[in-house]
Amino acid sequence: MLGNLKGLLVTLSSMLRKPVTYQYPKEHKPIENRYMGFPVLMWDSQISEPYCTGCMVCVRYCPTQCMTAVMKDNPLHAEGVSKRRKIVDSFEINFGRCIVCGICVDVCNFDAIEMSHEHELSKYARNDNRSDLTRLLEMGRKYQEETDWKPKTNAKESEEEASS
Ligand code: SF4
Ligand code: SF4
Repeated sequence: MLGNLKGLLVTLSSMLRKPVTYQYPKEHKPIENRYMGFPVLMWDSQISEPYCTGCMVCVRYCPTQCMTAVMKDNPLHAEGVSKRRKIVDSFEINFGRCIVCGICVDVCNFDAIEMSHEHELSKYARNDNRSDLTRLLEMGRKYQEETDWKPKTNAKESEEEASS
């Protein structure tokens, strides 16, 4: 009898608890800052240009060969505005083939690419998920705003300046 009552109390208490489930796709669980979604390109708002120089290091290391990049001479460098002699001209990632391994981010020397929070990018056709430079930069800016992103290289430089 006592056991039955205890069981009933457990049932009643769980009925009053707030549900922990989300009614996807109407509801979305908040994403943690450390979440690793698809890679996107970062925007240098101080100079108004991408961080990416189009050096192709990430392209060479990508295990699924889903990226392409083309570089060009940077007109802002010629004007004395930017330190980057070369800048990205075109860039594409085929998210349908990306395995979200993060190698492109690890090998980039310019803080130009980050694993964003983007994850709901499903498409019906196999090749519909190719993202060009404009879209990658748009997604990058969204990620930068969401996470108050700072480039690691500059952060390292400021730490060194502070300690000297
Ligand atoms: S993202 Fe980085 S490694 Fe890839 S092309 Fe741009 S600068 Fe080079
Ligand atoms: S996360 Fe991995 S698979 Fe995706 S683009 Fe970067 S290196 Fe390629």
